[in-house]
Amino acid sequence: MYYLHQNMINTRVEEEFSTLLANGANHRDVLVENYSDTTIKHIVLMEKNEDREVMITNRAGEVISSSDKSYMLQEEHKFIISDIDNEKDKILVSDWRNSPFIVSAHPYKVNDKQSGYVLMFQSTNSINQMVKDMNMHFAISGMTSLIVLFLIYALLSKVLTRPLIRMKEATEKLSKGDFKVNLPYFGKDELGELSSSIQKLANDLDHLKKERNEFLASIAHELSTPLTYLIGYSKVAMREGLSEKERQHYLEIIGEESDRMKDLVKNLLDLARMDETSFTVSKEYFSAQLFFENTYKLVFPLFETKKIKLNLVCEKDLQIYADPIRLEQIVLNLLDNALKYSNENSGVTLEVFKKEEKTVIAVIDKGIGIPSDEIDFIFEKLYRVEKSRSRAHGGSGIGLAVVKELVEAHGGKIEVKSKLGEGSIFKITI
Ligand code: ADP
Repeated sequence: MYYLHQNMINTRVEEEFSTLLANGANHRDVLVENYSDTTIKHIVLMEKNEDREVMITNRAGEVISSSDKSYMLQEEHKFIISDIDNEKDKILVSDWRNSPFIVSAHPYKVNDKQSGYVLMFQSTNSINQMVKDMNMHFAISGMTSLIVLFLIYALLSKVLTRPLIRMKEATEKLSKGDFKVNLPYFGKDELGELSSSIQKLANDLDHLKKERNEFLASIAHELSTPLTYLIGYSKVAMREGLSEKERQHYLEIIGEESDRMKDLVKNLLDLARMDETSFTVSKEYFSAQLFFENTYKLVFPLFETKKIKLNLVCEKDLQIYADPIRLEQIVLNLLDNALKYSNENSGVTLEVFKKEEKTVIAVIDKGIGIPSDEIDFIFEKLYRVEKSRSRAHGGSGIGLAVVKELVEAHGGKIEVKSKLGEGSIFKITI
C-alpha cells in the first residue's frame, strides 16, 4: 500500500509538471508567433481564473505583464530568475511540499530586441490537497484491510485451534482418570487422525477400567466363598461335644477349601506376572516321548481314582522346541480340566504329533462338553461355564486363561472344539 501510495502521488505530481510545461510552452509559442501587446494581454487573460499564474518578462527579468494582480510573485521571481536556462524550457521550482508554487520557465526570442521568458506559476495548494485526500483514503482502506485481516486471522485461528483445544481438554480428562471422552469428527487430515486416536485410546481405557472392576469383583467373590466355608466350618469344628470323626470331617473340608484358595491365589499370581510380562519363556529342544511319559506318570493316579482311562499317543523321535516347565503347566491344566469335566468310566487321550514343522498337542475327552455359545469366552479370566457346574467340579475359571497366555508366549495358538454332552478337544500348536 505504501508503494502504491508513493507511486500515485509521484504520477499525479509528474502530471502537474507536464501540464505546467505544456501550458508555458503553448503561451511562449503563441507569443513568438505573434508578439504584440494584444497577444500578451490574451495570454495573461487566459490564466486569470486558474490557480495558475503567468508572467512575461524581458531578458533582464523585468516584468512586462503578469496575471498576478497581487504582485506577490513579482518579488518571488527575482530569486529564481538566475536559474533560468536560456535555451530550453525548465522547471525552476519543483519542491511542491514546501514551496507555495511550482514554477516553469520558457525562454522566447522574437528578434534581437525582443526576447525574454514566459514564467508559469502553479499553486501547490491543489497538489497538497490531493495528497491529503489520498492520505486519508489510504489510511481508511489500510485500517479497513487491517480489521478485515484481523477478523480473518481470528476466524481461521479459531477454526484451526478449536480441534486442538478439544483434544487438549480430552487428554486432560484422561490424565485425571475420566475416560468418558466424546470427541467430534474432525475430518481425515492429521488433526482428524490425532483426534480419532485419542478417542480410541479413551474407549480402550474405559473398557479396561470396566474389565478391571469386573475382574476385581470376581476375585473378591471367588475368595469370599471359600473364606465363608473356612470361617463357618472352623466355628463348627470348635464346638464342644463333637465326636472325633465329625471334627475330622470338618477339618478335611477346611483343608480342601484352603487348597482351593491356595490354587486360586497361585493362578492369580501367574496371571499378574504374565500381564506384566515379567516371566520369560526359555525354549529348548527335548524329546517329546520322554516328556509326555513323565507327565502321564504324574497324572495317571488321579485318572485312575476316577476310573477314567488315560491314553498317550506320542509320535516317536519327536523333538519339541519349548519351555519344558511352562509346557508342563499347560498340559497339566488341560488334563486337569479333562479329568474334572469327564464322567466316571470314560476316556481321555493325550495326542502329540508333528504337523508342518510344528508340534500339535491335543487333549481329547468324552466329557460333558461346552455349550457352543460359551466357547468363545472360556479363555477369559475368571470365566466359568455355568458357575454351579464349575463349583461342583472345584474350578475357578483361571486355568484356561493361564494356558492361553503361556501358549501365546511360545508363539503358538490354542483351538477348542466341543459338543455339549459329547466331549471336547483342546488343540495346541507350537
Ligand atoms: P476352571 O478352573 O473353572 O476349570 P478354566 O479356565 O480351566 O476354569 O475353564 C473355564 C471353563 O471352561 C470351565 O468353567 C469349564 O466349564 C469349561 N471347560 C474347560 N475345560 C473343559 C472340558 N475339558 N470340558 C468341559 N468344559 C470345560
